[in-house]
Amino acid sequence: MTIVEIVDVTPRYRRIIFSAPDLVEALEIFPTAWLRLWIPNPDRGERHLSQRGYTFVDVNADNGTFGLEFVLHETKGPAGDWARAANVGDVSEVALTPARISLPEGTREIVLAGDITALPAINSWVSDLDASVQARVFIEDDHHDVDQLPAVTRSGDTWAWIRREGKRGEALAEHLRAAVAPSARQYAWAAGEKTLVKHVRAVMKDHLGLIRGQHFSQFYWIEGHSPA
Ligand SMILES: Cc1cc2nc3c(=O)[nH]c(=O)nc-3n(C[C@H](O)[C@H](O)[C@H](O)COP(=O)(O)OP(=O)(O)OC[C@H]3O[C@@H](n4cnc5c(N)ncnc54)[C@H](O)[C@@H]3O)c2cc1C
Repeated sequence: MTIVEIVDVTPRYRRIIFSAPDLVEALEIFPTAWLRLWIPNPDRGERHLSQRGYTFVDVNADNGTFGLEFVLHETKGPAGDWARAANVGDVSEVALTPARISLPEGTREIVLAGDITALPAINSWVSDLDASVQARVFIEDDHHDVDQLPAVTRSGDTWAWIRREGKRGEALAEHLRAAVAPSARQYAWAAGEKTLVKHVRAVMKDHLGLIRGQHFSQFYWIEGHSPA
């Protein structure tokens, strides 16, 4: 796949559009659909490739293009560094990971929580919802430019940006406990840094009382850890 466009949404959030007609044709798109990007990682060896997960955005079947949105995090890492240095015309390798998630029949409210690595996935959820399902979005982030980040908004949904305090996810979990009451036909989804997700997962189980099949969460990255 080849880079055809690069958009700096904010100084730390970059959208890269790829042309990949064969891949797009074979693609089954559903909320949170993601791919594994293979990136050179010279720190691990001259020809070493590392894989990192990124979420599909703006899939355009007519043009054979799709986007990925990269958090340009400050700590050095092959994917963040690759995205920062990317140029139109660059080519990269990917692998698909078709792990479909779908909303249980009859869901009326979906609670979506995470950090900004989960923002593309959260937007993919909201874009896919029936009008009968209300989305409650909660994202923990420290930056001042969050109003410039992409957010799929619909009437009746709520979006809350929570500033981090203490460990990752602590402020988010506290906010969730105060803002969301358990209700029938509720579903919750969370992704982001591991500690953050653990805090949110506890809210899903202990506070919202959700059982298996009513919630899903995934570690997207781990503070201080760079996978091979
Ligand atoms: C299913 C899935 C979907 C994902 N979708 C997206 C997406 O759409 N957009 C996106 O930006 N990320 C997404 N991620 C997260 C992304 O894969 C990780 O952030 C990844 O670790 C970045 O790789 P890296 O090579 O830049 O850094 P790594 O080599 O993994 O890590 C290097 C250092 O940077 C730190 N680090 C890594 N990521 C971050 C971060 N976001 N903020 C602060 N520090 C960080 C690590 O803790 C480590 O200390 C997704 C992950 C998964 C599993």
